[in-house]
Amino acid sequence: MEIAAADPALVEKLVMANRILYDQGVVDGFGHISVRHDQSPVHFLLSCNRAPGLVTAADILTYDLSGDLAVASSQRSYLERFIHSEIYKARPDVVSVVHSHSQSVIPFGATGQRLRPIFHMSGFLGSGSALFEIRDSGGNTDLLIRDSGLGKALAESLAGHNCVLMRGHGSTTVAPSVELAVYRAIYAEVNARLQIQAAALGPINFLNEEEASLAAATTEGQVVRAWDLWRQRIGPLA
Ligand code: MN
Repeated sequence: MEIAAADPALVEKLVMANRILYDQGVVDGFGHISVRHDQSPVHFLLSCNRAPGLVTAADILTYDLSGDLAVASSQRSYLERFIHSEIYKARPDVVSVVHSHSQSVIPFGATGQRLRPIFHMSGFLGSGSALFEIRDSGGNTDLLIRDSGLGKALAESLAGHNCVLMRGHGSTTVAPSVELAVYRAIYAEVNARLQIQAAALGPINFLNEEEASLAAATTEGQVVRAWDLWRQRIGPLA
């Protein structure tokens, strides 16, 4: 099937998102962000196997929901592209997916505790993050989501949540736009840090579900303000 070219502005936004996630400390040499194709909901855009801070428009590849290249390329693919393909398959509402190993989130997956919204900036956490245990579906592995079966299991753990913790590995956040996927990945990390700090002081009074929902509507409605600041730090893309 021939796929129409993606909107160049969307490709540029995805490149910018890669740079921002690196600049904000969410990803390092590893981690990735994708966006659903604007011309075809059964395809998505994701960089080739490159550190997010170095991604350019020429690196953006087109995949189908099996995680196969839909437009031929000689570039190497990320091993973990199945995180993205299976979530897009399971969640028609999701437009963008971020996978990272951001550090403050790791202790939660390792102890089986959920991220819960500690302040208004992380209302997207709702009643708490989901938790994925790779041993349940994959036995002993290198922890990576390297095929569609593991991707499907991850998507099932994510279910209707916006964030899933991956025990011993990292986390994945989803959103209805690139800007919000970046926002949620950044604030999942911030929330994790604050939650650890608050837990040392005493029992935490988290936002309840209604507060989380109200706060998310307000803060996420203003995501452009944060996005403009984050992208200004990157400057023009070469
Ligand atoms: Mn990973």
